[in-house]
Order: sequence, then structure tokens, then C-alpha cells
Amino acid sequence: MICRQEKSAIFYQFAKLASFPCIPHAVFTRTGGRSKGPFESMNVSYEVGDMEQNVDENRALLCAIMKIPRIVSLKQTHGDKVIVLSDGLLPDDKHRKGVCEGDALITNRKGVLLLVKIADCQSVFIYDPDRQVIANIHSGWRGSVKNIIRNTVQTMTKVFGCQTENMVAGIGPSLGPCCAEFVNFRSEIPERYWKYEVAPNYFDLWSISVDQLKEAGLLSENISVCGICTRCNTKLFYSYRGEGVTGRFGAVIGIKEDGI
Ligand SMILES: [Zn+2]
Repeated sequence: MICRQEKSAIFYQFAKLASFPCIPHAVFTRTGGRSKGPFESMNVSYEVGDMEQNVDENRALLCAIMKIPRIVSLKQTHGDKVIVLSDGLLPDDKHRKGVCEGDALITNRKGVLLLVKIADCQSVFIYDPDRQVIANIHSGWRGSVKNIIRNTVQTMTKVFGCQTENMVAGIGPSLGPCCAEFVNFRSEIPERYWKYEVAPNYFDLWSISVDQLKEAGLLSENISVCGICTRCNTKLFYSYRGEGVTGRFGAVIGIKEDGI
């Protein structure tokens, strides 16, 4: 991972994705924003009790740093619904009426940041340099069990004609095998995933995602795992498991507009 700082915002980038200058992407930390208290300071979620104006300003900061004018996010439901952003912008989760529910966004549109809001769940970026299509996935353990990764890859293939061997993917900071404890895993996690139990009740969710990407057709050398556990690093990231009331950090990816 490449660690960068702009203004007082610290963010991470995947080396392989960063080799494509037309695809600005970042996993932001909780640093450098406006929010206070448990949301300190770069919270990007309107749904956690933070002041709307602070979230507005934090999202504007993300756009300014990424040099992409617009930002779009979904009402995340821990499901497996994939949304394709084609013509027109989706009603954002700020506008509760008509808000679009889903946990993955795909687009080939330029000038729009796809935002996933995270506190322990995984964000998964996918980029196809051949078809110029990007995806941003929110996958917690429920998303892992439902394999939203497969749905997203298949939608990229079906809608945009992407080929999986061209896709480049990055799995963001999230709950690591050190902290992904599921005491009720026998009722919550299907048996086919029990092989990912690395210690009694502890699961390696990162490996599940890597395997799901490979099973969907991506090449191992095109898959990167950040490897930072959010719960072990609450100074840098929000952790729902570690903190309860807390913010959500932003994982963003976009396609640059021509000439910028
Ligand atoms: Zn941990």
C-alpha cells in the first residue's frame, strides 16, 4: 500500500491501481476532516448521527483531493445488490427519499467518485483498464456469505463486456483475522466457509474475498490485499466492533474527466 497525505487527510492507495493515473482512488482514514466527538474527523456517513454539514464538508474534501467533482453512494444494506450508474446521478443517501439501496456500484462514467462507507467491512475496488469500467463494493461478512463480489464481476462482464483476466482488484482495510470473531458462526456462516476459520471462532475474511475474486475469474497477480485491520488501528480507522458509536471512512474510486 502507498500511504499519502494531502491537507491533513491521510489515505492509502493500491500500488497496482495507482499505476493508472486516469483512475484516482483512495481509502481515506479518519484523519483530516471536520467531524467531532466519536465521528472525529473524516466521517462520510449521514446515517450515524453526525452533523450533516460536517459530512457535506468531508465529502467535498474527498472530491477536492481526488479532483473528481461529484460523489455518489448507496444506502448500504449488507446485501448483494449491484447498482450500475449509467445516465443521470443516483439519488444520494443524503436525500433519504428515493435513496438507492445496494452494496456495489459500477460505472464507466467519468467525473464521478463511487463511495463506499466503511467501519470494519471490506471495500473492494475493481478496475478493467481495457473497457474503462470501475466498481466499488461494500462487503462485510454478510456480503462475503452472499458473494456480492461474484455478482459485481458478473455484472461488469454482462453489462460492459469486461473480461475478468483484465480486471485489477484491491481489498481495503477491514476486520482482520486477528479480530473477525464469530461466536455464532455455526448459525451465521455457511459450512462451505468454515475452512477459513484460522483460530477457534476467528475467520479470515480477506482470504474469502481473494478466493471469491479468483473463482470469479480474476488472476492472482491482479489482486491486492491491504492487510490493515481496522479494529487494531482505531487511531487511523473507524471500527464498529471496537467503538460502537463511530463514523465511517470513505473508500473512493473514479475515472478522471478528459483534460483534467
Ligand atoms: Zn485486528
